[in-house]
Amino acid sequence: MYRITVIGGGIVGTYIAMELAKQHKDVLLVEKEGELSQVQTIHNSALVHSPVMVPKKKGVLKAQLAWEGNRAYQEMAPKWHIPVFQNGGLLLAGNVDEEAMLERIIAEAKADGITAFERLSQKEIRKREPGLRPHIRSGLLLPSAFSADTTALTKAVAKEAVNRGAEIRRRSGVTAIETGNDGFTVYTEDGGQFQTTFLVNAAGLASETIASMVEHHVPYRSRAVKGEYLVLGRHAKDWFQHILYPIPTHETKGVLVIPQPDGTTRLGPTSTEIHRTDQAGMTVEGERLIKQEIERFIQPPYEHVVNKYAGVRSSLHEQDDFYIARSKECDNFIHVAGIDSPGVTAAPAIARYVSETLLAPVLKS
Ligand SMILES: Cc1cc2nc3c(=O)[nH]c(=O)nc-3n(C[C@H](O)[C@H](O)[C@H](O)COP(=O)(O)OP(=O)(O)OC[C@H]3O[C@@H](n4cnc5c(N)ncnc54)[C@H](O)[C@@H]3O)c2cc1C
Repeated sequence: MYRITVIGGGIVGTYIAMELAKQHKDVLLVEKEGELSQVQTIHNSALVHSPVMVPKKKGVLKAQLAWEGNRAYQEMAPKWHIPVFQNGGLLLAGNVDEEAMLERIIAEAKADGITAFERLSQKEIRKREPGLRPHIRSGLLLPSAFSADTTALTKAVAKEAVNRGAEIRRRSGVTAIETGNDGFTVYTEDGGQFQTTFLVNAAGLASETIASMVEHHVPYRSRAVKGEYLVLGRHAKDWFQHILYPIPTHETKGVLVIPQPDGTTRLGPTSTEIHRTDQAGMTVEGERLIKQEIERFIQPPYEHVVNKYAGVRSSLHEQDDFYIARSKECDNFIHVAGIDSPGVTAAPAIARYVSETLLAPVLKS
């Protein structure tokens, strides 16, 4: 019998298991794949976002957890030797309208109490990033933005979870859940079954399916939003000194240039809602869009493209914010759903929120 089981070994579920194992015995993490973090957590931009890029208008809980997460990584990354690329980000304005939008972003950030940014003139921007197109007028330095090796990160978090006594089962996709008086019986695709008092559902794109094994009315509807990327190899390493952001739209942060700790550079992501798993790969249209958007501020050396890939965001219909809450039908079941971007950034703070705000009151009672 386990006390608490976390379903889903992406960065979020792994962090939650580690946080819970700090205070509780008999914590189990179950993951469907043969390795942790193989779904959203590695098919993304791998950015720990600056708080400026996560305003409260995109969701108060999302913003709060992303800001806390950003602070947590700054302390944790050096301690755990997680490879990071830490030159900061540049948010770029290419015309008068974009400069006006940049001013609005600054005003919103100040209203949200965020001060970790620096306004840069055209001259200052060009000094930092000489390869930018001449029409770039000005920008914002985001010193707390960095990219991180998310595989190394998840491994480090998993190791710490195990050191604290948690058990991790791989190749254990959950196929059915029976709700009893004192908890749950969970069935897995390897033919196994076990009992647990509490369940935390952090299964990313599969969260709605898992929740429907417990609840009659799942309180959210999942939405899959694909993001495509081109990857430049290490030979293009010195072309970009910073993470380059365009002015974001209401829907997305736009197509970015994202140098990685291993010397490669990701160009992307696009943003397209998909309805079937066979739509989850790279497309010619996606590649065209990436190039069109990136070339607005820089001409990348495409001869160094070494890889292309797509990731699928686990978003929700009719809500931008994360859905992290105790089930209204069953007190022992915790939803961690709609963890799209910036879920990597927010993961340490999501874990604390689940442990301290949602589970602590029921675990004490
Ligand atoms: C294109 C794109 C760009 C992004 N860029 C960024 C970024 O730059 N910065 C940032 O902070 N965030 C970013 N994100 C968001 C971030 O990647 C996610 O929020 C984060 O990885 C979510 O982690 P997770 O653990 O919730 O989900 P996942 O990593 O998807 O993990 C869920 C896990 O559940 C497992 N699972 C599924 N079904 C079952 C089952 N039945 N039983 C057991 N296990 C199961 C899966 O195998 C998977 O390992 C991006 C996402 C995408 C797609």
